[in-house]
Amino acid sequence: MVKATETVLEIDLGALEHNFRYLKGRLNPETRFLGVVKAFAYGSDSVTIAKKLETLGVDYLAVAYVKEGVVLRDAGIRTPILVLHPLPVSFDEMIERCLEPSLYSRKILLEFISAAQKQGQHKYPVHLKFNTGLNRLGFSIEDVTYLAEKLNGEKALKVVSILSHLAASEDLDEKAFTQTQIKSFENIASEVDKNLDTKPFRHLLNTSGIINYPESQYDMVRSGIGLYGFGNEAKIDAQLRPVAILKTVISQIHTIASGESIGYNRALITQSPKVTATLPIGHADGIGRQYGNEKAYVTIMGKKAPIIGNVCMDMIMVDITDINCHEGDEVIVFGEKHSADSFARGAKTISYELLTGISKRVKRKIIAE
Ligand SMILES: *Cc1c(COP(=O)(O)O)cnc(C)c1O
Repeated sequence: MVKATETVLEIDLGALEHNFRYLKGRLNPETRFLGVVKAFAYGSDSVTIAKKLETLGVDYLAVAYVKEGVVLRDAGIRTPILVLHPLPVSFDEMIERCLEPSLYSRKILLEFISAAQKQGQHKYPVHLKFNTGLNRLGFSIEDVTYLAEKLNGEKALKVVSILSHLAASEDLDEKAFTQTQIKSFENIASEVDKNLDTKPFRHLLNTSGIINYPESQYDMVRSGIGLYGFGNEAKIDAQLRPVAILKTVISQIHTIASGESIGYNRALITQSPKVTATLPIGHADGIGRQYGNEKAYVTIMGKKAPIIGNVCMDMIMVDITDINCHEGDEVIVFGEKHSADSFARGAKTISYELLTGISKRVKRKIIAE
């Protein structure tokens, strides 16, 4: 592999394929697979990832907002795209691009019906999102008769699926709570089947749901983080490969005497002589200030180099006192061995936040193999 000569986020499509096949392999062969590509495919590159997933045969893609779906359609993606959190302002654009809304409230439902009617739609595919305990978005079971009233005989729309989302699928201490969500989803599904004049398919599980509650896979699963290489569990992480690898280089090396300060606000005063490397990556690239002052480390020549002092906008300084390295050498911020998950944990956050925060300034390099 070519060594990095600047800050670069490598996107490994071989890893994506591996993760997809691994997750598929845990499911019944007939279960449909939705690949979640919201937030630039978890900070990587949504068009590249969506195209690869399309080649691999995913049944659905999902984004959070309409404009994310528009980018995919403009790039030629033909796979059905579910929009998880559509807002009325973009309903017309959504219909023009054949993006399928997850409808979650009475207001949204009525506004979407009227947008679809106005555009002369017939059986436009929509999905109904139900709240089973996350208390974020969704209809409740009491809404089912209302939904039937509005949707039965409504020719502009067709309800393709119903869905809900688990609040703590990765946390086995919350197994009892998750079971109540599953039970509640089943009650909703049977009410829907009783009241609606169509029989929509069902989906509930995200990545950790696939791992921990495979018996509730229903007709489709929705995986995001797993495709990108994380299973929220060490045993699963060991089976997956990170898609995004963040690399940079050493810009300058300093030898600093004991008692000097390093960086803004003199956050670190050295207690002993130190050798430091300055790296061309900072909070404007997505390495937030929470990672400074030794909360996280990067890897140089396979060795840990903690981030010292405050994170600057465009730079960080790392401690290389015990590492034999030179200006221009490659630095792994996170990757295979020191994963985004372990990097994030140092600052008490999660891989999802670190990955989706890698900013546009960082060049994406696609590794296709
Ligand atoms: C983001 C999201 C997912 C994907 O979750 P992962 O934990 O990344 O697999 C699935 N469903 C919904 C509704 C989401 O918002």
